Amino acid sequence: MDDVTRRKSDKNPSEDIPSPLPGAEPEAADYVVSHLEEAIEKGWIRVFYQPLIRSISGELCGMEALARWDDPERGLLTPAVFIPPLEKKQKIWKLDLCVIRQAVEELAGRKSSGKPMIPVSINLSRSDFLCCDIFREIEDIVRRNGVDWSLIHIEMTESAVNPDAEAEFKTLDRFKEAGYELWMDDFGRGCSSLNLLKEYAFDVLKLDMEFLRRETKRSRSIVQSIIRMNKGIGHQVLSEGVENREQVEFLRKSGCDMLQGYYFGCPMPLEKMLDCCAARGIAIESRKQRACWSALRNIDFLMDVPLALLVCENKTFRLPFVSDRAMDLLGEDTTREELEKWINDPQDTAGAELFRAVESAIRTGDSGEICCSRGDRPL
Ligand code: C2E
Ligand code: MG
Ligand code: MG
Repeated sequence: MDDVTRRKSDKNPSEDIPSPLPGAEPEAADYVVSHLEEAIEKGWIRVFYQPLIRSISGELCGMEALARWDDPERGLLTPAVFIPPLEKKQKIWKLDLCVIRQAVEELAGRKSSGKPMIPVSINLSRSDFLCCDIFREIEDIVRRNGVDWSLIHIEMTESAVNPDAEAEFKTLDRFKEAGYELWMDDFGRGCSSLNLLKEYAFDVLKLDMEFLRRETKRSRSIVQSIIRMNKGIGHQVLSEGVENREQVEFLRKSGCDMLQGYYFGCPMPLEKMLDCCAARGIAIESRKQRACWSALRNIDFLMDVPLALLVCENKTFRLPFVSDRAMDLLGEDTTREELEKWINDPQDTAGAELFRAVESAIRTGDSGEICCSRGDRPL
């Protein structure tokens, strides 16, 4: 996100993040380039984390590591100040490795104290691929700290990947083969995003936050079409820049898998971010849940038939999602909670029928059809 984007947003709660001094940009650029090594050595580079929320469950499913430069004289500098000059001078790889090291060490610390693990996504720049063997460097850090590869997600914008550079694709393949997830950042911001999708299978596509700015019927249709297209090719979709409840509802109904934005929290130091999530009742997603929800990547929530998602745990059903069309079919007076109560009612045959169907589907891997009714209404 550049400065212009930040100024456009009228709701930025990160008061502790000052804007760069007006008119000081060229001087600030020289400063960061000449002080990078000192900043790394003296611990001025800090990692802030922004929560990523699973839209279907409302749980914390990951966090994005975002660099901050905590300068003893200049205060807290944002990426808009230091990333572009470091990219231009091809020094960004040093900062990126510093961020990755800290993020992986924080994960390793959680592991050794038995705390739940949270996947972390890290940002890479184009010159990372050119200036060092970025795969080997990251692999060394991850191995040394004994962290599971699947917990590390590599985010790249389309500008980070040159679709004509065979070597870059080879590096991406090495990450994929080793078990890292590859995420495409800021999808839709540039003009070659679709081309890149054709060339490479990403695990997650992050929809650029501009799609949620100045929302119109048209922009919402575009968002839904992008989500549907990605479901078709098996990508999960994360929407960036979520700032209000209406956007959460819209994205959830559209089948957007994950959400990120100031509505859930701005980037913060790890413990503060976790405290904020806990204070809002946001639980950390377990590995088992992660695997289960990832399977939704192929389900089109906007399909033309009534749709409900049924989760069966310890012989109890939950309905995390019921589409508007399905609710219409069930009648205006029905709520999701009532429906859940009904299918779990031991006195009713519908629940038993459903349970048998679920068991048989798991056993055989087949899909099937069952019919039951509630009063005079079909289910
Ligand atoms: P990004 O990877 O797309 O990160 C998301 C940016 O959007 C973050 O800005 C975050 O603070 C901001 N943001 C999150 N939610 C909202 C929201 O609801 N509304 C608005 N208006 N903004 C929101 P940040 O931290 O300033 O980072 C800016 C960019 O700098 C990042 O964009 C990423 O491209 C780059 N960056 C940050 N850290 C690193 C790093 O360690 N390495 C590299 N190579 N790039 C980094
Ligand atoms: Mg990013
Ligand atoms: Mg982004």
